[in-house]
Amino acid sequence: MSSAAALRRPALFVDRDGVLNVNRADYVKSVAEVEFLPGALAAVARATRAGWPVVVITNQSIIGRGLVTAAVVADINAHIQRAVEAAGGRLAGIYVCPHAPAQLCDCRKPLPGLLRRAAAALQLDLARSLMVGDAVSDAQAGLAAGARAMLVRTGRGADQAPRLAAAGLAHVPVVADLAAAVETWLADPATKTPPG
Ligand SMILES: [Mg+2]
Ligand SMILES: [Zn+2]
Repeated sequence: MSSAAALRRPALFVDRDGVLNVNRADYVKSVAEVEFLPGALAAVARATRAGWPVVVITNQSIIGRGLVTAAVVADINAHIQRAVEAAGGRLAGIYVCPHAPAQLCDCRKPLPGLLRRAAAALQLDLARSLMVGDAVSDAQAGLAAGARAMLVRTGRGADQAPRLAAAGLAHVPVVADLAAAVETWLADPATKTPPG
């Protein structure tokens, strides 16, 4: 491993809706619609205390669809960051794909653009990182970036888990929620190297 690579830290990438907060079929359109999932904030705090950067990777096509402005999504994300910090955690970054599917961008999950952008900006070691999401597309994005992936049963996860096999992703672990994902990840030998 080169010294440059050694400086790169593994990250815990997390999807937002359905992992940190309750997923809404009609999208989270305001701060008032943010409802945190049980244990999610404590799970971020646990990873933060262990020294690992926690980075949100979220598709927000509501912007590209014209339903809310990017400023509203930024307000929602700032609210989430404040709640995470009040619980003793920290989000090292919040990366948003604002595009609608028809815009054919390179950052909408299942594509790995946001993870790659985060890795470059935050000096992350993708191969030792984990993407936690509630959708097959989250797992696909993590794997496409060269990271590992885990699915949670919260949010859309219970419906999405049976679809992993059809996507060729039967090997992706499915756990109850973000707390379980963090617990599993912190027990993994790949996370035993002290954070840089
Ligand atoms: Mg989600
Ligand atoms: Zn995009």
